[in-house]
Amino acid sequence: MLDDGTTTLAVVVLDSLGAGPEVLDEAKEIASKTTGIPADKMLVSSTHTHTGPPSNAKDGPAPAVAYRKLLVAGVAESIVKAHAALRPAAVGAAAHPLPDEVFNRRWFLKPGKMPLNPFGRLDQVKMNPGTSPDVLDHPAGPTDPDITIISVQDLKRKPIALYANYSLHYVGGVPEGQMSADYFGEFARVMPSRVRGDENFVAMMSNGTSGDINNIPFNVVRPPREPFEQIRIVAQKSADTAWFAYQKIQMHRSDVRLGMRQRMIKLKYRRPTAEQVAEAKAVLAVKDKEAIAKLPRLAQNYARSTINAAEREEDTVTVKLQAIRIGDLAVCAIPFETFVETGLDLKKRSPFPQTLVVGLANARHGYLPTPEQHKLGGYETWLGTNQVQEDTSVILTDNLLEMLAELKKEG
Ligand SMILES: [Zn+2]
Repeated sequence: MLDDGTTTLAVVVLDSLGAGPEVLDEAKEIASKTTGIPADKMLVSSTHTHTGPPSNAKDGPAPAVAYRKLLVAGVAESIVKAHAALRPAAVGAAAHPLPDEVFNRRWFLKPGKMPLNPFGRLDQVKMNPGTSPDVLDHPAGPTDPDITIISVQDLKRKPIALYANYSLHYVGGVPEGQMSADYFGEFARVMPSRVRGDENFVAMMSNGTSGDINNIPFNVVRPPREPFEQIRIVAQKSADTAWFAYQKIQMHRSDVRLGMRQRMIKLKYRRPTAEQVAEAKAVLAVKDKEAIAKLPRLAQNYARSTINAAEREEDTVTVKLQAIRIGDLAVCAIPFETFVETGLDLKKRSPFPQTLVVGLANARHGYLPTPEQHKLGGYETWLGTNQVQEDTSVILTDNLLEMLAELKKEG
């Protein structure tokens, strides 16, 4: 939580695959009632750990329903506690690269190696194509190697909090049936040792723009790891990198200007064509087990998604965008599994010297490929994994740049 005397804002990181607006708005409302901070001055992003409990179970298994209550209360409590602990502080920001743990997971393949997609067609790129040099040609996009940090100290230079941001989907390597906060949680655990934080110090790792980025080194073979080992390795390396960034902060300042903007953006849902619906119905009409086995992988799953998208009652979805200014640092918050191209573009075009982009922020409305990546196809672009109009990344980027310009003008 940061407060410059005029603006108070809260930034929360949640160990979840991707909590939705319903559950997060509930938490913000409770926190707002207690602290007086408006809900539109609260950014809550999910880490995207793939080994967390469901976040929005209102019925079903008792533990899942109980967890929803705990999640709402916990998010609210974290904001209330941070508000109660406000004290004179100084803030700084910097970035340092960790290129060796991020890999673009969408690849062009060697001729003849592309399997049919669930719709029975050939994409130009494939997600997670394995590691065989006989199959792999070249990745379809870049990576963003930077870990950007926001560091908060008290006036005696004792660390209060450190917020980090890295564009890595998650790490994984958790045994079946177990829960884990993945490397995000392990980063929070080891980071205090890097800056000598005491028991009140809070470190957080947020997910950046990692929709097409993961931790699989496609062109080399990594030795096998025991459970949790790769999580620990990435957490240690990212904590080291955050420390290198920390060393770059020349001065923590207490006279920074804060600002925060929120916009609600209405987007069109993607609708399948009549031809696509007819194809989906034909795929779902296949009942014979052997015939189903001959369909492309996941054909019936995506046929169902196609029908669902055709029958969806709503034409539009309204999504929440946020932009924050902390002195010379800008934070953009996007409620999608945002592609790295969008993050790099925002960083380049931002009017602020330093910008970080948080994905899975305030909601998770599916994947957000750029229009160029939509043309290449692949898992993240398939109707069902992707739900909104194909130029969404352009609309959101334009809005965020306007919001950043407004924040810049305020200063
Ligand atoms: Zn994901």
